Amino acid sequence: MSVGVSFALQRLVARTSRVSAVTRGVASSARRASRVAMAGPDPRASAPDGPQRAARRRLVGAVFDMDGTLTVPNLDFQEMYRRVGCETKDILSEIETWPEDRRARANAIIHEMEQEALRTMKVMPGAEELAAFFDARGIPRGLVTRNVQSSVAHFHAHAWNLAPFAPALARDFRPYKPAPDALLHISAAWDVHPSEIVMVGDSGKDDVVSGNRAGAITVLLDTAGKWSVATGTGTGTGTGGEDGDGCGGGEEEDETRSDNGRQVSAILEGEMIPTHIVRSLDEIAPLLEAHYDVVAPAPVAR
Ligand SMILES: [Mg+2]
Repeated sequence: MSVGVSFALQRLVARTSRVSAVTRGVASSARRASRVAMAGPDPRASAPDGPQRAARRRLVGAVFDMDGTLTVPNLDFQEMYRRVGCETKDILSEIETWPEDRRARANAIIHEMEQEALRTMKVMPGAEELAAFFDARGIPRGLVTRNVQSSVAHFHAHAWNLAPFAPALARDFRPYKPAPDALLHISAAWDVHPSEIVMVGDSGKDDVVSGNRAGAITVLLDTAGKWSVATGTGTGTGTGGEDGDGCGGGEEEDETRSDNGRQVSAILEGEMIPTHIVRSLDEIAPLLEAHYDVVAPAPVAR
């Protein structure tokens, strides 16, 4: 698929969303989706099909977030932050600085909520199909989560029907996302360059930032269409602008969105800007095939 066709499809999705919009809220989401489409793919990854195809960036490994990415969101992070009394954007790092008794109470609340979430854990639609896409090509897939290892084990044992993700790093691996360390650890374990890995996740501040810091390709899963890219900070290769669907103007620019429990600007800026944004996991395999050489990592001679 050419980049142009990809753009056309993305814009078609945005237009389709607008056609079906029946409330102001939905229309707002569609406008945001339109702006997202404008951001387009990273030009580093874009090359025309045909003779130059061989020059395309290679993709030889995939790393996934778990909660809200491989599983349907069922952890109320905002409620977790509220109950714990967290005041920063990083609950795990913040409670590490607390006195032991307060930290113990916070960990008990987090543990209780994570255990409750296990009971209703469901695989995200498209997750196993996407994993099968990588498996069929011999591409390793790993997992990095800020949840605990026992939740990863529960996911593999009770929700996931394919081979487990490996490595699967939980929050006993420090430092947590958004630090790039877990991704760099996995790329080293696979003996591949981090720039040839794709990081897929639903959090801009954790998954996308960690992927960008590692130098990976980043895909933000935005099922609700709640994020948009700051004007002028996208790749600028889209065509675009608002299509004038006429429901209010830019007042939503000041809105915030919950990202793993913390309210942050709805506008993706700086390190939170992913290489690609998708509304569902189903979009990822064709997107990657359109922009990268998706191939198994070459055996390393030793
Ligand atoms: Mg997540």
